[in-house]
Amino acid sequence: MTQVAYIDPSDGSRYPVDRPRWRAPSGHYLNLTPGAGLRRGDIDGACRSVWRYARAIRVPAAAAVSMGEGWTPLVEIEWSGARVLAKLEFMMPTGSFKDRGMTVMVSYLKQCGLDRVLEDSSGNAGASLAAYAAAAGMRARVLVPETASYPKIVQIAATGAETMAIPGSRQDVAEAAVAMSAEIFYASHNWQPFFAEGTKTLAYELWEQSGFDVPDNIVVPLGYGSNVLGCGHGFDELAASGEITRTPRIFAVQAANCAPYYTAYAAGVDHLLPTQIEPTIAEGIASSQPTRVREVLGAVRASRGAVIAVSEPEITEALGALARKGLYVEPTSAAAGAGLTQLLARGVVAAGERTVLVLTGSGLKAGERIGALLRL
Ligand SMILES: *Cc1c(COP(=O)(O)O)cnc(C)c1O
Repeated sequence: MTQVAYIDPSDGSRYPVDRPRWRAPSGHYLNLTPGAGLRRGDIDGACRSVWRYARAIRVPAAAAVSMGEGWTPLVEIEWSGARVLAKLEFMMPTGSFKDRGMTVMVSYLKQCGLDRVLEDSSGNAGASLAAYAAAAGMRARVLVPETASYPKIVQIAATGAETMAIPGSRQDVAEAAVAMSAEIFYASHNWQPFFAEGTKTLAYELWEQSGFDVPDNIVVPLGYGSNVLGCGHGFDELAASGEITRTPRIFAVQAANCAPYYTAYAAGVDHLLPTQIEPTIAEGIASSQPTRVREVLGAVRASRGAVIAVSEPEITEALGALARKGLYVEPTSAAAGAGLTQLLARGVVAAGERTVLVLTGSGLKAGERIGALLRL
């Protein structure tokens, strides 16, 4: 484990990590100081979870709260006439990629001595936090939108977590949580930088599973941006360690109905602009006020990738097409498939390139909605 500190990117102030914080005294979000990276020889090959990369995770492995998350399959499929690699991130203990970040974040908070945490979520992060808190013996309160998929709400409540359905938008839920943060430690995965410390293992895994090489392109759904940041940090660290000499292009896919990143990206700026927000079936990326906007856009641009937007019918079409290949994912994940279809059609991504389609959440969480969308 290397030395690590919180850093407020607005003024460069640093804070020790022995006391957990969700934001800086200035109110700004906090990042972690850059990691030292990872070398091939650092991998613990006997460990079949994200903790095989413990040498690069700035939380002691001895304190890990782990349920075997990560080390997910990378399988070749045909998509829109191209051979691509599907990364099955929904094959995690709670059915979404959120476990990759949550194992690290909860391990950190537990190690700091917290016994109670608060989170807000469209559903999957709440389910993941509730499960890891339960495994760690911590109490949890989780706020979800009233409209969240019922199976996700049940999944949270079943852990014993205090579960509160909040009326209004995803943003209203986040604001209700902030209002409670004086009472209970706000363990928001969208603020806590130790969450992205976990998601960076996606980059390590893709590198290791590609025979210690990198794909040409990675296509991910984009809500707040933890997969984008994880890829950005992870590949940067591998480059800094001298393990790779190029990094993949990152293509981040938003639902056109809720596309604040796309609007900023298209305008060439690195801050949010006023954006019209409509409901979307991609509930996991229905985020109108993401946190680390500059870092996420910076990671996409530095990779020479792009932020793109897909319509509701495009998402539904991709959902059906994935399911008919046996890949039963939730609509949010299908947005990435719809994005890849666009990128191939526009020639931005070529069929001969090595392209990874990241499938983030299980369809088992959204059966009723999927049935209605596919008219089954
Ligand atoms: C949370 C979530 C996303 C979006 O992740 P961000 O970190 O918000 O970009 C994508 N897919 C699923 C299934 C999710 O639960």
